[in-house]
Amino acid sequence: MSQSESIAGVFNKHVMPTYAPGLTLVKGQGARVWDADGKVYLDFTSGISVLNVGHCNPRVVEAIRKQSEKLMHVSNLFYTENQALLAERLTGLALGGKAFFCNSGAEANEGLFKLARLWGHAEGRHEIICMQNSFHGRTLATAAATGQEKVKKGFDPLPEGFVHATFNDLDSVKALVNEKTVAIHLEPILGEGGVVPADEAFIKGVRELCDSKNLLMLCDEVQCGMGRTGNWFGFQGYDVTPDAIALAKALGNGFPIGAILSGERLADVFQPGNHASTFGGTPLACAAALATIDVIEGERLGPRAAVKGEEFKGKLLEFVERYEHVTDVRGAGLMLGIVLDGPAQPLVDLLTDMGLLTIATAQNVVRLLPPLNTRDDELDEAFDMIEDCLDEWHGLGEAQAEDETEVAASEEVAAAAATDEAS
Ligand code: PLP
Repeated sequence: MSQSESIAGVFNKHVMPTYAPGLTLVKGQGARVWDADGKVYLDFTSGISVLNVGHCNPRVVEAIRKQSEKLMHVSNLFYTENQALLAERLTGLALGGKAFFCNSGAEANEGLFKLARLWGHAEGRHEIICMQNSFHGRTLATAAATGQEKVKKGFDPLPEGFVHATFNDLDSVKALVNEKTVAIHLEPILGEGGVVPADEAFIKGVRELCDSKNLLMLCDEVQCGMGRTGNWFGFQGYDVTPDAIALAKALGNGFPIGAILSGERLADVFQPGNHASTFGGTPLACAAALATIDVIEGERLGPRAAVKGEEFKGKLLEFVERYEHVTDVRGAGLMLGIVLDGPAQPLVDLLTDMGLLTIATAQNVVRLLPPLNTRDDELDEAFDMIEDCLDEWHGLGEAQAEDETEVAASEEVAAAAATDEAS
């Protein structure tokens, strides 16, 4: 039994099967990971948009090491310097108001919903318009906000107060606004929904609608934030400013931390006793986040993601002409999706065998989320693997078609023979 199989055996016996993992990974460095049997892969999943500055980034590792020797946790009953510094830094990057810290994307979104409800409470407004095909997390409220049935199935009754419009269809959003509406919540680029960027007119229209109806505009930046799309945050690719955003994933580059960032309007809505989180913004988590921001800023990884992403997308787009099963390539920065005319998982499996890790999403999309500092030669290597894989896949398709033709031909012969016998 291989080392990978032996670890998987213990895992499957003792860990609840909420996922169906494939490889057993034991080590990571930059854009590469190693499995338990020594095989090396290029990791274009980045822990699902978490490792924006790469696996075990030395500056993040050092920040965690140093802080863990000084002070890890004291609770939010006390002031801590790192939380103050991180809030100052993040609100300087966007919205200019205040921050609330938590531990995950679901918790950040859940906090956003509570913030919006508290803001609208005196007027009896609580309903939040979300988008179909969105993904916001797995708690009951974030599952209710998520626009995908598979996330909700079996967990009803879910909290009420979330309704769903069609992404990129402003009229469908307008049609849902009523006297109970308090906010409109959206991902600037649908991640789990298939790497679908918002149209400029749509996102601007949402902002204008919020202004005219006195609603809050909330953005889920959990997957598309922290430089991934070329800007610090996905909404910054458009000429709009939301009232608050949810952050997590890449904020700590693998150390769990989430956050809400607000503009001035919402900065003091939460008061002592309204909302809290034991582990929110520990000195250790904030040290990891501060170091991550230093690396993204110092190495100009946002602008790099914009340039490299555009180049990579341009090259991938040639596949639309070349391979019949590739119908589109979309996304922004280094958040890209190769859209196929059928299920994406077989291609993802083939790429894994070749040594490139990717993620299938929305059934037919191969999602690419490399670390933002993936080297040029590694991007080229990944591109070559995708090309080889599509060649092979295309070849397999032809082989299968030939098989089918042969079967049909032999069936015809058999049928003709049977007819002959009967006559
Ligand atoms: N929001 C978006 C856009 C996400 O992609 C995810 C996770 O994939 C979440 C929220 C939930 O984040 P978490 O798994 O950290 O709760």
